[in-house]
Amino acid sequence: MKALRRFTVRAHLPERLAALERLSVNLRWSWDRPTQELFATIDSGLWEQFGQDPVAVLGGVSPQRLDELAGDEAFLERLDHLAAELDTYLTRPMWYQERTSAGVSLPTGIAYFSMEFGVAEVLPNYSGGLGILAGDHLKSASDLGLPLIAVGLYYRSGYFRQSLTADGWQREDYPSLDPQGLPLRLLTDASGEPVLVSLAMPDGGQLNARVWIAQVGRIPLLLLDSDIPETEHELRSVTDRLYGGDQEHRIKQELLAGIGGVRAIRAFTAVEGLPEPQVFHMNEGHAGFLGVERIRELVTDGELDFDTALAVVRSSTVFTTHTPVPAGIDRFPVEMVERYFGSSEAGSELVPGVPLDRIVAFGAEDDPSKFNMAHMGLRLAQRANGVSLLHGTVSRGMFNDLWPGFDQDEVPIGSITNGVHAPTWAAPQWVELARELVGSEDLSSLSEADTWKRLQQVDTGHLWWIRSQLRELLVEDVRRRLRRSWLERGASEAELGWIADAFDPNVLTVGFARRVPTYKRLTLMLRDPERLERLLLDEERPVQLIVAGKSHPADDGGKALIQEIVRFADRPEVRHRIAFLPDYDMSMARFLYWGCDVWLNNPLRPLEACGTSGMKSALNGGLNLSIRDGWWDEWYDGENGWEIATADGLADESRRDDLEASSLYDLLEKSVTTKFYERDEHGVPRRWMEMVRHTLQVLGPKVLASRMVRDYTEKYYAPAAASLHRTIEEVDGVPFGAARDLAAFCERARGSWPNVRITDVDGYGLPDTPLLGSELTLTAKVHLDDLRPDEVVVEAIVGRVDTADVLVDPLVVPMTHTGSADGNDVFSSTTPLPVAGRVGYTVRVLPHHRLLAADDELGLVTLA
Ligand SMILES: *Cc1c(COP(=O)(O)O)cnc(C)c1O
Repeated sequence: MKALRRFTVRAHLPERLAALERLSVNLRWSWDRPTQELFATIDSGLWEQFGQDPVAVLGGVSPQRLDELAGDEAFLERLDHLAAELDTYLTRPMWYQERTSAGVSLPTGIAYFSMEFGVAEVLPNYSGGLGILAGDHLKSASDLGLPLIAVGLYYRSGYFRQSLTADGWQREDYPSLDPQGLPLRLLTDASGEPVLVSLAMPDGGQLNARVWIAQVGRIPLLLLDSDIPETEHELRSVTDRLYGGDQEHRIKQELLAGIGGVRAIRAFTAVEGLPEPQVFHMNEGHAGFLGVERIRELVTDGELDFDTALAVVRSSTVFTTHTPVPAGIDRFPVEMVERYFGSSEAGSELVPGVPLDRIVAFGAEDDPSKFNMAHMGLRLAQRANGVSLLHGTVSRGMFNDLWPGFDQDEVPIGSITNGVHAPTWAAPQWVELARELVGSEDLSSLSEADTWKRLQQVDTGHLWWIRSQLRELLVEDVRRRLRRSWLERGASEAELGWIADAFDPNVLTVGFARRVPTYKRLTLMLRDPERLERLLLDEERPVQLIVAGKSHPADDGGKALIQEIVRFADRPEVRHRIAFLPDYDMSMARFLYWGCDVWLNNPLRPLEACGTSGMKSALNGGLNLSIRDGWWDEWYDGENGWEIATADGLADESRRDDLEASSLYDLLEKSVTTKFYERDEHGVPRRWMEMVRHTLQVLGPKVLASRMVRDYTEKYYAPAAASLHRTIEEVDGVPFGAARDLAAFCERARGSWPNVRITDVDGYGLPDTPLLGSELTLTAKVHLDDLRPDEVVVEAIVGRVDTADVLVDPLVVPMTHTGSADGNDVFSSTTPLPVAGRVGYTVRVLPHHRLLAADDELGLVTLA
């Protein structure tokens, strides 16, 4: 009989076992193996039955067993040790504190906003890469000691669970999560009442939310939940599921995450007595409304004018974009945004004092009827980045229109390549080997390339033995999942005898698992089905292939691709060598990254912003076989895997698929399988294992989320905090004087700019036949309208020109103000010619203010 409703009752722990409660609710257990083993010891059956969930184990374990453990000295010793270790982990100085002690100025608080967080399987608050990345960001921030507070939504059903129908069509189920059964606590005020975050809705209603706190090591993750009695009936479903519902639903979620998120942080820091965050990081544009709320705070509570408030907010906001395609950006009808933010001059109940037209302007784009969340992110953040080198370049092109007059490579969007959290994704066998090589429990030296060099000492046979163990574990998991899936699809046990020997722990194992949007090309491997089949069934050098991934519930195209794979893999001829496993999630992913020899990725370049699954595979000695997109474009070095040739730019998509699939088959046939099956007298594939060793050594230190979080700290968070500091300074006793000055400057610069002109440029000083290094003197006369000469920079741009007279990689030389003539200001420079060949020059003027991150920030430029 199925229960109508369910709820969770927590067990009463004997006094002596009280520390178990603390260990179970801090999600640090999810990357601390000894703590996991402790919970498995309590009741190994429950541990497996509940999917490795400490809270569930404590809920399900019998009182007798607890009493027994309370008298078990060995258990108590481990418990006390791990509890003490957790306390040390939570309080001891880490990298961040060491940097601060060394005199480096770092922010006292950082707020990190994301719509999804994949921290652990017990909290299924993610759909794919973006969420897992956010989870890895938190875990590494914890390991490094960052004072970071994370904010998102608590989805009652999380993301869907995937299963298959008999004919291979994706089915979705939405589990209902009970927060009482999860490692969450409610944010309460001083009197113990739940804190309520409230947003005024256009019809006079209130969208209220409680705030759950998940503790991710040292990092609190605040999750807003609208499904509470205090919220009106139809608004309770706002946080029902991730990526479900229409745009009206979605905008409410984003308003709650952004505006409600800031309000939740204010309540949290007040209750906990923590410093206010100085830096606000938007992980994707979804939480962009946080900037509007911060402006409201400064306008209504700080009595600043809108532009001054905006200057403060921009100085301290970091925006990360994750999509290389315009279609991947969230856009709302302007009419919808107007409805939520009110139509009066004075703004709305939602954010009183913030004028609607200014809010709408944040999201302006080509289409006047659309409000673009990425544009809002860029306009609210002084600093922005993409998530790999290539994606940085693509983003600068994609958003070039926001900086008209600038070349693509000058667009102020940088990049930080994503990373993955090693303690979460590396197999225990590798962690153990790392401990042996480092000679310590403390693995923080893994961020140094030298540490990974020590792998040189390890016997190739030993490395192969680890790889083989991991492949075997994967094969066992694949069989378990295959059986479960076939039973769900209606097969009977009697028909499933073949599964016991399906897949082979000695066969070259290729993994392909990811969400199923079109650009990832799930079915490229089926381009030539006979050729694939020959690879799978080769007598001497067979390949086995494991495929997984969820399609968005509304994407029937994606579901059809899954069905195509399932139908191919269902056939008795090949079903022991290829399988589609339903319900790709963190628990399945872990076995795949551990055990696959080859990680396959064949996106349409350059549509994969970064990709992280291949990094997780590399961290376990998997070799990547991938199109050079995202991170692989940056770090493929010819020996750490294979590059599938891309016909990038070919307009005929079908031909492009043919070419790229053919490159994929060629590589598998001629290089991948031959290396894997070439064995020495001990059965070890030497050349293969040298590639594995090389992969670990060169990619190990790079793919780490700790490297990523350090990069964010040094290149984005610290500069943003410094900008904030300078921007909010008093000037002549006026609070926020610097910000007021910057705001007034921006307004004057924008007002004057249409009249700024370069009226004359003169070049002289060169000999009759100029040589490389000959000195060129340039003078420019500039009409500056209301601006002073020190409020602009004038630059000479000198370099080689192509046949269309476009300057290629030119040298930018600042010109100095040398006087004035007939109402114009004169600027000049002298520079040796930097290149030989066809050379040209021009001059440009940009506004300059000490509080701008760069002179191109305002997007204003005048060319001669
Ligand atoms: C790492 C991971 C992803 C993201 O992988 P991509 O390479 O970015 O597609 C998605 N889902 C799960 C469960 C993961 O662990």
